[in-house]
Amino acid sequence: MPNLQREWKARAYAKVNLHLGVGPMRDDGFHELSTVFQSVNIYDEITLRIRDNVLDRGKSPVAGPLKITGPTAAGVPTDESNLVWKALDRLALHIPLSYPALDVEVHKQIPAAGGMAGGSADAAAALMLAQKLYATFFELEIASADILQEIAADLGSDVPFTMMGGTALGKGRGEVLSPMLTRGEYHWCFIASAQGLSTPAVFKKLDEMREASASAGDGSLTPTLDVTDTAQALVSGDVHRLAKVLKNDLQPAALSLRPDLRKTMEVGMEAGALTGIVSGSGPTIAFLCEDAAQAEEVRSQVTLEIPKTRGYVASSPAPGVRIY
Ligand code: ATP
Repeated sequence: MPNLQREWKARAYAKVNLHLGVGPMRDDGFHELSTVFQSVNIYDEITLRIRDNVLDRGKSPVAGPLKITGPTAAGVPTDESNLVWKALDRLALHIPLSYPALDVEVHKQIPAAGGMAGGSADAAAALMLAQKLYATFFELEIASADILQEIAADLGSDVPFTMMGGTALGKGRGEVLSPMLTRGEYHWCFIASAQGLSTPAVFKKLDEMREASASAGDGSLTPTLDVTDTAQALVSGDVHRLAKVLKNDLQPAALSLRPDLRKTMEVGMEAGALTGIVSGSGPTIAFLCEDAAQAEEVRSQVTLEIPKTRGYVASSPAPGVRIY
């Protein structure tokens, strides 16, 4: 393999849901979503290294346990349950020849199980990076754009968005995407908890709360599927306007499972955030701020007052997967 680049790297960006409308559960067990995704500049890095040994078709291209490094590596699986491993296995099914084994490293900075699509972004980056690596190695496109999209959606509802990044409306279970117009740069402070929240558990809790509220004749948990206010705020580029319309239907469920997050919200608001919202299925709290200095103030106050939290100052929109 003379002259072939051995080491391949990509950056995988996190996301925040500016609007997360959750409709009823569908027959396939997924909920119908109407969501506005925006990528943020907190990222993981994926490295693929080509080994000398060549594998027969059908074998996993992943040479062994993943090397997981970085500040948020704790608890992230190193085995086949990691979405990066699954992504590489799925893509390899499309290679018509023997292929090289790969060493895989994931440097984690996105909070794990934090509602910021860290695992999904890693899978998105692994897919696009491996596609490029194989295209160079075999001088052959392994999967068409349609097949890549299909694999991405199968791996998880947030994987297609984290491939493209920017700002997009997500329908279906979040995989049917349309890019959205947005102006300006937004400044955030994200507060991650030491303990993650399981996404399926939060959806289940919302279903239970909706059932209880419907039988009590209270319509407060009805789905908010209209994203017009968010779309208009994004076009205006006015952060104050956007702060007024951030919405997450999963928030009552996440707060019910993690009542301690109310205190985090309170402290962030006292520190000057324009608004605070549960990010995706939580438990990360996203504080939208006037500027980077205010975001830094919120970060330092909240992490000082609330034990076992990690704070990040970030901006949005960020790009999708970047290969370099
Ligand atoms: P989402 O916002 O897409 O629901 P999340 O941000 O809440 O996701 P992830 O960080 O994607 O959560 O992790 C969810 C679970 O997925 C973790 O508990 C972990 O066991 C598993 N997982 C698999 N692959 C990865 C990965 N590459 N990074 C982090 N977690 C992973």
